[in-house]
Amino acid sequence: MVEEADALARILSAASPLPMVERPLREALGSFLAQPMRSTMAHPRFDNSVVDGYAIRVADEPGERILCGEQPAGQDRSLRLEKNEASRIFTGAPIPAGCTGVAMQEDVTVENGRVHLRESVEPGENIRRAGADLAAGQLIGSPGQRITPQLVALLASQGLATAPAHRMPRVTVLSTGDELRPLGVPLLSGEIYDSNSPMLAALLQSLGIQAELRHSPDDLTATQLEIRRALETSDVLIISGGVSVGDHDHVKPALAALGVALDLWRIRMKPGKPLAFARSGEKLIFGLPGNPLASFVTFLVLLRPALLQMLGARDGERFLPVKTLQLDSPLANTGDRPHYVRGRIEGERFVPQGLQESHALFGLSRSDALLRMGAGTEIAGGEMVSVLVW
Ligand code: AMP
Ligand code: MG
Repeated sequence: MVEEADALARILSAASPLPMVERPLREALGSFLAQPMRSTMAHPRFDNSVVDGYAIRVADEPGERILCGEQPAGQDRSLRLEKNEASRIFTGAPIPAGCTGVAMQEDVTVENGRVHLRESVEPGENIRRAGADLAAGQLIGSPGQRITPQLVALLASQGLATAPAHRMPRVTVLSTGDELRPLGVPLLSGEIYDSNSPMLAALLQSLGIQAELRHSPDDLTATQLEIRRALETSDVLIISGGVSVGDHDHVKPALAALGVALDLWRIRMKPGKPLAFARSGEKLIFGLPGNPLASFVTFLVLLRPALLQMLGARDGERFLPVKTLQLDSPLANTGDRPHYVRGRIEGERFVPQGLQESHALFGLSRSDALLRMGAGTEIAGGEMVSVLVW
């Protein structure tokens, strides 16, 4: 059995960031910048008004001003304020020449073309200065930075329609098993629905990756054909099931028949022991245990970091965030493998959920964190533990 950290290191050393593409901003969410980015213009680009009100020269005499024009947001009317003049102005509108402050319309009375200020205005009041937020040429994004909605806003404000990001990996999920039926088909005795394919597709989707879903019966030739096909079209092949040592587990023999040698097989972790990993050129092949929990946990702790590395994510973004919480009730791991316990974050507590077995989906459905318990360890209720949050 390979130690988990060793397995992860070997998998990560095989996963290279994919080439750069210009991704339309509308599709770039969740991908990662491939290049440093600099602003091409200052933000704000020009001095403008914070409020709807009246542009004035603050230093003029207190009291009344002559209303001399109007500057809405949009077209710059190139107004200029002379002594004791005021201009109507609206939020986001360019500040007229000579204006040194804007009075809020709530603090002003206008009568017969005269603007009466009821409150004094400080120099610079209600003016957003050009470049106050961002200077032209400033660094606004670094390689490996996640494209978030807020970064999309910044890039769009710079007039950029695309972002330099890494290409998304093409992924095939191949689920194996004679007992599996697709959704919507009635089950015969002994059959179950294929839940791993939709689950893995959803996990991939949470990384912005669309997967092609395929199925193979427990048959060597069929498995081999599907693997060969997937290797032609994909960067990553995720095989579910068929990777153990049963007479009907054909994944390893199929890979061997295609000349693909395993880099790893069997990892000291629970669930997830029978995980296999291989490379075919630059392509990565993962054989996940068919048990749903084992597929889920190995995806999160071993595949997700590799996929994020292919997406170009920087170090801090590749692993699940860690949270320190109080364990709700005592737990013991008497086995010889680290055990990932599924649970739910309730305020400051971590509460294990449901049956902790590799087929148990209900508890998982109520969980949002994993507690990794070392082999042969016990943790008392109320103790502080670090959990991985997904
Ligand atoms: P295997 O790894 O193929 O030996 O499968 C281990 C267990 O996981 C068996 O009980 C399978 O029925 C179950 N299993 C395998 N593939 C899936 C799947 N796609 N969806 C749900 N359960 C599965
Ligand atoms: Mg099977």
